[in-house]
Amino acid sequence: MASIEEISAYLDALLPALGVNKKRELLRLMYEINKRDKTAPAAILPAEKNLNFERAKKILLQKRYPLSFASAPKSAFYLPKLEMNPAQRADLTPRPFYPKHIYIETSAQDSPLAARARQMFPQAEFKEWDGKEMVGSGNFSRRTETLVIHREKYDFLKPCPCSAGNAGCGYNLINLGFGCRFECEYCFLQQYQNLHAILLPANVQDFLDRIDSAKFNKGPFDRPRIGSGEFTDSLVFDDLTQYSAQLVPFFRARPQLQFEFKTKSVCIDGLLRQNGAENVVVSWSVNAARFIESTEHFTPSLSQRLEAAAAVARAGYRIGFHFDPVVPFAGWKEAYAAAAAQIAASVPKEKVAWISVGLLRFSRELKKAVENRFPDNTILDGEFLLEFDGKMRYPEALRKEAYEYFVPLLKELFPQTTVYVCMEKPHICSCSFG
Ligand code: SF4
Repeated sequence: MASIEEISAYLDALLPALGVNKKRELLRLMYEINKRDKTAPAAILPAEKNLNFERAKKILLQKRYPLSFASAPKSAFYLPKLEMNPAQRADLTPRPFYPKHIYIETSAQDSPLAARARQMFPQAEFKEWDGKEMVGSGNFSRRTETLVIHREKYDFLKPCPCSAGNAGCGYNLINLGFGCRFECEYCFLQQYQNLHAILLPANVQDFLDRIDSAKFNKGPFDRPRIGSGEFTDSLVFDDLTQYSAQLVPFFRARPQLQFEFKTKSVCIDGLLRQNGAENVVVSWSVNAARFIESTEHFTPSLSQRLEAAAAVARAGYRIGFHFDPVVPFAGWKEAYAAAAAQIAASVPKEKVAWISVGLLRFSRELKKAVENRFPDNTILDGEFLLEFDGKMRYPEALRKEAYEYFVPLLKELFPQTTVYVCMEKPHICSCSFG
């Protein structure tokens, strides 16, 4: 792969009179093509007589967006300035979760969560926190060095912020935590999380107190669904938080609701210590095995996730799966069919409450975070266009093809299960929810 400096020098020699903005666009396009195809700059944009900016840009857009160049509006091609900062590169050295600094808010000092943190991490430096001073490492990659135990005051219960124009599924969220110790290359927290620390609330009961008086939309499901996995993995810190010990009995006593733990972890000991509950669904985010290995760093393998799912199902919970994000890489159909078949062979199908499918989509801002933290990623090599809701998405025809292949396949394997498409235009897939 050519370096950015090599591509830049090639462009300077080829088109010496380019202004800053024009060069910025061509450099971005050549960088992305070179990264994806590993072809030399001279093969990407060969010298030709009378080559100018407009001609060069057209050649590069055609190569970068072969599926959509002819049909997509020009505004859909997002070409931000290439700004690489090696200091932001993710640290993929395996390490246990052991924070160096633990801040405990004054009002949470006597909480059971604070006591467990003191017991589990005796080598950490503990500080009382007033809830105002900015804490954290100042670098997203070092967020797990700082743990903050606090008392949540405002953000207890809210509907899932499904973007405007998408087909909603009536989901509700209690945000029990912010931050994660896994390193999925596509994770939106890389761009979204300002406080570079792991935040865990000590006052779970205050969240639960809001639920009995709330009015819920059940969407297309038989009961309203509530989950806790928006800004963190629902179970990854459960050994420490033991939230499951409060959540499971609470929801077991409210069979008119369903609660979902959404995870990639195998931290199920807390769940297994409880008797299961029919209305508590433990769902795993799953993917093609090789995508998990290459892209979801530090997470358990597909087989390990499915072993945990089978154990949780035996304990009396229902289970769910989220194929999200689906990435149509070369050979993806076979790879995702194999993952679906592995699930069907590993868990009791009648216990699978729901399966969702969502193709990779992300905010514009995330693109720069991913290319800085994971410069060798392959996920950004796909053809992404700025879409109806301001997100970057694959071309609509590709999304439709993917959903129309994979959703019916899942429905055939899991005939008793609700299979649905997540965060998409209502018409993208006639097969969702049917
Ligand atoms: S498991 Fe979820 S929250 Fe954690 S890094 Fe991966 S995508 Fe982000």
